[in-house]
This record gives sequence, structure tokens and C-alpha cells, in this order.
Amino acid sequence: MTRYVMALDQGTTSSRAIIFDENGRMRGSAQHPLRQIYPHPGWVEHDPREIASSQLGVMVEAMVAAGVKPDEIDSIGITNQRETTLVWNRRTGEPLCNAIVWQCRRTADMVERLCSDADAAAMVRAKTGLVPDAYFSASKIRWILDNVQGARELAEAGDLAFGTVDSWLIWCLTAGAVHATDITNASRTMLFDIHRGCWDDELLDLFGVPASVLPEVRPSSADYGVTAYPGLPLGIPIRGVAGDQQAALFGQCCFHAGEAKNTYGTGCFLLMHTGRRAVESSHGLVTTVAASAPGAGGIEYALEGSVFVAGALIQWLRDELGIIDTAAESETLAATVDDAAGVYVVPAFTGLGAPYWDAQARGAVFGLTRGATKAHIARAALESLAFQVADVARTMEQDAGMRIDRLNVDGGASSNDLLMQFQADILDACVSRPAVTESTALGAAFLAGLQTGFWTDVDQIASLREEGERFESHMDASTRCERMAGWHDAVSRVLTRR
Ligand code: ADP
Repeated sequence: MTRYVMALDQGTTSSRAIIFDENGRMRGSAQHPLRQIYPHPGWVEHDPREIASSQLGVMVEAMVAAGVKPDEIDSIGITNQRETTLVWNRRTGEPLCNAIVWQCRRTADMVERLCSDADAAAMVRAKTGLVPDAYFSASKIRWILDNVQGARELAEAGDLAFGTVDSWLIWCLTAGAVHATDITNASRTMLFDIHRGCWDDELLDLFGVPASVLPEVRPSSADYGVTAYPGLPLGIPIRGVAGDQQAALFGQCCFHAGEAKNTYGTGCFLLMHTGRRAVESSHGLVTTVAASAPGAGGIEYALEGSVFVAGALIQWLRDELGIIDTAAESETLAATVDDAAGVYVVPAFTGLGAPYWDAQARGAVFGLTRGATKAHIARAALESLAFQVADVARTMEQDAGMRIDRLNVDGGASSNDLLMQFQADILDACVSRPAVTESTALGAAFLAGLQTGFWTDVDQIASLREEGERFESHMDASTRCERMAGWHDAVSRVLTRR
């Protein structure tokens, strides 16, 4: 009998299920959008029931779409939006309130207050690898315990369960039999010591979170029980779990130190595997846990950096400037000119992140001459994505003392050949785009299938990664130097702190 692995990809804006065959090829998929709830300015929530219903619903739809029967599914892998926080009653399974989404800023003041002390901030940084921020789960749990009536008492009585989206889905799928999370999701809560690989009492004290609410932490490729939700196919093993970026790193077959992937979505997420070494960044990048194959024999780590505005800049060209009708048109328009004619776009719409960290900086277009056209602006906009990624990549290389010779890419804007070629040129590295760019779902499937023996080891998986396109650097060193200098000059003019 032919067998398959099903990946559940619970993202910020949708829930998807994808069925992969033994060659890592997609056989069918289904997707449902997820409602975004904005109760107050700066607050973002999801309905936990809708997370579960949309995700459980697409499982069946994907099987129908692929023409696959439940007993042909070897196992399930879960990947998810990270940091988003849920709390539910262990006895009834009822969520206490809506999920607080990673983007939600309601606890910004709380984090500032709790981590105002330099020693506390340094302790958080040292243990978790994260920069103290409302983004991570710890302060969101505290907010629920402090603000939902009766929550603290229930927690003290041992009746509450906290989980990130993976834990909630595992709980729902196993009908409450398993309350667990994987080590990559745990590493984003700000309550987890990434060096010792366990929840940390000092962090729990700092954020006022009782240990009784925490899920058990398991490796990313491990036994998470079997499906037991009435009405769904029963008894399918859940064997892989990882946060979305770590799943993508795994799905891109970056298993060893120095291997890196970048996802070009609304923003960019660049992750570099650093092996057994938790590299501390001197430039504000975060240190995080990487997903490991079974038998890795210890915790593996990655450095993570992000670019706030990437594909969003292309949306801006389309929606605000109106110079293109579709995102893909950015490429055809940019290709009508040979170069950007000295134009630089700095898309600091919401400030600049690594390595600049200037929240007050704002965007600008530089180098305009009377001959500059919308094609030059489109080209400069695409180039700005690559320049920003190069800045983060070079920072990572310095922190880790390792060179990125090859960047595995995915995400919506990675389909843009002109951008990928410029990325290779400006990074002086090979850019490799796989044939299957669903790296996140594929990573979750790989983690599950490695646990059951559906796939034997990472070498076999690496041999399945089919390259769609490869872009080699053709730019000479002096041009590269000149272009980077032009970009850095443009950036220096928008910085408010020089
Ligand atoms: P997300 O997961 O963040 O929603 P996706 O991976 O779906 O993002 O990618 C969508 C983003 O990619 C959008 O911001 C869009 O502007 C950009 N994008 C899509 N296709 C192209 C293209 N051909 N060239 C440049 N940008 C693109």
C-alpha cells in the first residue's frame, strides 16, 4: 500500500493541510482562512475554536483532494505560528479566552516593567536567547492569569493548561490525552532555558507563571499520541512538531552548522543552523533551538534574524504607488531597465531591525534624477529586499564566525528570478530555490516521517530535495562593494541614531 505523511500548517492567517508522498512531493492540500480579531488598537487575537475547527477540517479535505484514505496516512507532522498563546481548562477543555497572537502589543508595558532591571533583562537574554519583548509568550500568559476572572485560582488548583498553537492542536487531536509541546516552540515562550533544555524556575518567577500550567517538552521528532477526536480518522500517530521557521529550516534540509534558509514573505525570516553551539549575537539577533532528527543526541541551535518589510514593499508599490497591478509584475517592470540608475529605496516603514535597531527611522527613496522612472523604482525596491537580507546574513556570519556560501530560499517573493539573481550577486553566494517551496509543511512532514521510519535518515531526506532553480553570483567584487556602499549610505541617511 502506498503511504503518505500529512503536514498540518497552522499559520497566522490560515490553516492548511498538505499530504506528501515518500518522495516529498505534494499529493493534495486544503486551506481555510483564519479570522483576525482586533479588539483594541495594537491587540490581535484568534478564536481557539476556530483554530481547531479550521485545522481539523482541512485534514479531511486534503485527504479527499489527494484521494488518500486515512489508513494510508503514516503519520502527522504539525507546524505552527509561533509564540501565540492559549490557556484552557484541563478538566473541560474550554479555552479561557481568545488566543493572544504573537503580533499583539498589549503586554509591551508589562515586559518593559518586568525587565527594566538590567540584571533581569540580562538573565532573560542569557537563558532564553531572546531579546525581552511582548512578542514572546511569557507576558501573554501572565496577562491572561491577571485579567481573566478566576484564572489565577484555577491555575493554582492545577486546572489550567497553557500552550502555543501546537500544544492546543495536539490536545484537541488527542482528545485531551496529551499536553505537550516541542522544544522549538518552547524556545519561543521566554520561559525555557535553551541551554539546559527545560522550563526555568527563575523565568517562571519573573513572569509570575505557575509551573502547573506548562506542557511537557518533547523533541521535534517524537511521539505526541494518536488522533482521537470523535468524527475524525482515529489512531493516526502524531510524530513531528516544530514552530514554522524551524520547520522551514528543516524542510530546506539545513541540518548542519553554517547552512541557512531565508523565507521571503511579507517580511523575511533568515535562519542559520549553528550545530550544537548556541551562538550569542552581539547585534540583537535571537538564538533559538533548531528542530532535530531523532538520535541527534543533544540540542541543536540556530541564529534567527528578520527583515520587517520585504514583500510588504512590493504590496506598497502595488497598492499605494499603483505602479504595478500584481506582485509578479515588479519583476517584468524592473527587467525593462538594466539597473536602478543610482536609485535606492529604504523601506523603513516601521523602523529598521538588525543590525541597525532604529525604531524611529522611516522609509525614503534616494538618488532620484530627472530620468528616474517607475521601472528604476521597482528595481531599487526589489534590490532593497536583497540588501536587507545581506545585512542580516553578514551580521549572522560575524556572530557565528561562519560563512553562508549557499542560501536556500522560499516564500512568495522567492519566485522572483530577478530578485534571486540579485540576492546571489550581492551576497556572493549561491541561492537555491527548491522545486517544492512549501518548506514549512515539508519540514513538519519530514520530522514525523523520520520518527516512524517512513524516511530513514536526514541523508535520505536531503537526497529528496529537488532543486528548482539555482542562482550563482556573477557580480564582480568592486561592483558589489560599490552597491553595498550605496545602500549603506542610503540607510545612514534615514537613521535617527547615528
Ligand atoms: P506571508 O506568508 O508573509 O503572507 P507569502 O510567502 O505568501 O507571505 O508571500 C507573499 C508576499 O510576497 C507578498 O508580500 C507579496 O508582495 C510578495 N510577492 C509575491 N510574489 C512576488 C513576486 N513575484 N515578486 C516580488 N514579491 C512577490
